[in-house]
Amino acid sequence: MTRRLHSPGRLLQFANEIFVHGLGWTDSKQLDSSGVLPDVFIVQKRSEVMPRIRGCGNKDTEVALANLLRANRLFGWRRHPPIFGKPDFVFRKQRIAIFVDGCFWHCCPKHSNLPANNRVFWQKKLAANVARDRRVNRELRTLGWRVIRIWEHDLKKPARALARIRKALSS
Ligand SMILES: [Zn+2]
Repeated sequence: MTRRLHSPGRLLQFANEIFVHGLGWTDSKQLDSSGVLPDVFIVQKRSEVMPRIRGCGNKDTEVALANLLRANRLFGWRRHPPIFGKPDFVFRKQRIAIFVDGCFWHCCPKHSNLPANNRVFWQKKLAANVARDRRVNRELRTLGWRVIRIWEHDLKKPARALARIRKALSS
């Protein structure tokens, strides 16, 4: 699914959305004859719209969870296994898939907020992320996996997240 987001067609579509909505243009006459955006606009607008503070988060939060699991002597997991939906961690034997979801990118109810600029773009993008998460949960469960999603903010006070993982491991 993520892969599809990065396909040239998809990227172009996003770029077009940024371009059109971001600059308030309602038609595509600025595109060149092939319908392709000039690179300079893509780069410029992308860097402008990417929320600065949030980063992609994933690396840090995943490392945090890995450290937490080790510190609590929970072993037998792997990171980034080649499994549908790309879980961040799996306990393969117990068929448990764990995702650590960034509060911004996955619209956590406590901390999600839309950037002030390019609201339409972000609304669509974040809604697509949430929809994809649901689809992945459904599909993995159908395949017999138990899915645990942990919010980035849960890692600050991890007792509850740990309890969920322990419970899944013991059942
Ligand atoms: Zn949050």
